[in-house]
Amino acid sequence: MTLALVAFMAWRHNVRNKAYFYWGTGFLLSGVGFAMAALRGQIPAILSIEIANTIALSGQSAWVAGYLALDRRKLEWWALLPPLVWLGGVFLPWVNDDYTNRVILFNLASAAGATALAMAVCMAGKQNEGSRGKLGAIFVIQGVLCFGTALAMAILGPTDAEAVNFAGSAAMATGFLLILACALTCLVIMERSEKYLRMLSLTDSLTSVLNRRGLFGRFDAIRERAFNSNRQVAVLLFDLDHFKRVNDRFGHQAGDVVLTVFARLANQFVPDGAFGRMGGEEFAAFTTVADQTEAEALAETIRAEFCRVPVSTGDAIVPATFSTGVALASAIEANMDKLVSAADRALYAAKAAGRNCTVIFGEAEAAAPPPPQPDQTSGELVPTLDDQIHALRRVGSLSRG
Ligand code: GH3
Ligand code: MG
Ligand code: MG
Repeated sequence: MTLALVAFMAWRHNVRNKAYFYWGTGFLLSGVGFAMAALRGQIPAILSIEIANTIALSGQSAWVAGYLALDRRKLEWWALLPPLVWLGGVFLPWVNDDYTNRVILFNLASAAGATALAMAVCMAGKQNEGSRGKLGAIFVIQGVLCFGTALAMAILGPTDAEAVNFAGSAAMATGFLLILACALTCLVIMERSEKYLRMLSLTDSLTSVLNRRGLFGRFDAIRERAFNSNRQVAVLLFDLDHFKRVNDRFGHQAGDVVLTVFARLANQFVPDGAFGRMGGEEFAAFTTVADQTEAEALAETIRAEFCRVPVSTGDAIVPATFSTGVALASAIEANMDKLVSAADRALYAAKAAGRNCTVIFGEAEAAAPPPPQPDQTSGELVPTLDDQIHALRRVGSLSRG
């Protein structure tokens, strides 16, 4: 009953998560069912035997429903097995009149419930929290225990007094396993929220592709893959052309639509690498390529596809293009900062060449040192990506100060 209260309070905290509601209901039903069974002799037999055990076993069905709800799966018929097995047998005279046979039947129903719980926990498809396997194992042990108890009683044919001991031992072990299952369920939920929060911290909220942190976190794995498959590492930087004008002419919301459409489209073309939003209207892809031609083909395929399918905001067709800067390096020499900086110089060249095109820096150009910092006191200031990052860091530290 206490656990029911805890689960219902957790459900009130987040009513959209039905799992807590079902688990709370499960504890409530078990509590009420076993309390009624404990009142044997003081309340009519039908209440303390047939109905009490049906209610207690329905608690297991509710727990199964809870695990299904946790994974947003629909309710399954086999969740109802525990009370169905019990109701299917308890009215047979040779079961109803014999305490040992009733305990055997209850344990069989309970074993069916434990199997349903293990199935609900382990058949979750994509969900693969580390503690799920352990939780499933607890329910399998519980199932084996209940089934073993039923089998041993059927073979040994105990007296009523001995059957009480069997029932008691099975109940004690079940209680112990239940505590373990509760702890492991908490762990599964914690791992899930951790995974969800980590995903949020690495995802761009507007376009749902990786954000800068998520993208940079993937570089080492891509370089390693390039090393193992004897390929080169390519960094592609995309920047939408005259995007300020797009915003001015069609509105910021239309600009957001263009960003989302572009991100979704480009992301599809980098299945083996990583694609993400660097910030603003700039995106980047890290991937492995055999040579410069493959990198160029990738950039041009995305550009051709983006030109081919017009971006529609519902009210208007928004003409949009982007420029791409690409830099390549061998897996051994690939350094993320240098490659991004080289790709940015290539992007700058693409802008200077008239936009809506791709400029590639091969290994030699990418390895070349960046041009010297512009003299702060003379000439035109040309902000490179490094300058912009430096400026943003300054703004960040000033605003914190
Ligand atoms: P260029 O071809 O040289 O890249 O010109 P540009 O106008 O695209 O470049 P600039 O860097 O001057 O302007 C970028 C614009 O992108 C300015 C800003 O309003 C817009 N922008 C940045 N982030 C977002 C966003 O999340 N949504 C929308 N709608 N606009 C954004
Ligand atoms: Mg830009
Ligand atoms: Mg731009």
